[in-house]
Amino acid sequence: MGVRIVQRKADELAGAPKGWRRFELFCTIVFPPLFVTLVYRMRHDAWEWPHLIPLSFLIGLLGADFISGLVHWMADTWGTPDTPFVGKTLIRTFREHHVDQKAITRHDFIETNGSNMWGGSSMLTFALIIGGGDRLHALAQGSLLFFASFVALTSQIHRWAHMDSPPLIVRGLQSSRMLLTAHHHERHHTAPFDRSYCITCGWLNQPLHSIRFFRTLEDLITALTGALPRQDDIGKEAAIAVAQQVEEEEHAPIEASAHTDG
Ligand SMILES: [Zn+2]
Ligand SMILES: [Zn+2]
Repeated sequence: MGVRIVQRKADELAGAPKGWRRFELFCTIVFPPLFVTLVYRMRHDAWEWPHLIPLSFLIGLLGADFISGLVHWMADTWGTPDTPFVGKTLIRTFREHHVDQKAITRHDFIETNGSNMWGGSSMLTFALIIGGGDRLHALAQGSLLFFASFVALTSQIHRWAHMDSPPLIVRGLQSSRMLLTAHHHERHHTAPFDRSYCITCGWLNQPLHSIRFFRTLEDLITALTGALPRQDDIGKEAAIAVAQQVEEEEHAPIEASAHTDG
């Protein structure tokens, strides 16, 4: 027997507040000069310790994949679009995406990437503050440079995974599993909607699922607050059904496409 999924209407969820969009525009404008400044400042360290570059790249990519999963999981699982501050700016976006997955492919550059540019710009600023000059600082700065870049790109990568025809070079990177693929990401949009939150390269999805990372956090938060995970996203009945699933392979009770307004 199926469980009815109850969601808000997509048009009620669409559109960011004007003030937030202005802030996103500002973060998008400041990201490139911060990036160029940091690369310029790092030039001597990169020449001195070139072997740190691939290590920084890997740390940055995995760091961004992990943060994408954590932020995505928080926004999917808790709160509502009416939650103060994060409701209209962050949670609303993810709720809209679950009701209308293709909406992200119609969004303009700022709506798609603005919030991530905020995260990326903040990390670049931090990297500039800590400075370089020795091996440890060079590794930290390099990791932050790649971390910030992948964070800034993550929504665009997610958007490409939902596009029918992403650019040729992106398809090549998807085929090599450097970037999130549509096939891999499909799991997130399939019942029971409680996994595959990482949306940069998706490499951490399986390890985090294996150690029950998000499920353990959910159990802890529910035990502390009594809140039901995903209640606002898929409705109380479906959220209870997911929470009661003991074995992660028991997907049967949840229907994937029964969207109605809440
Ligand atoms: Zn989601
Ligand atoms: Zn998606």
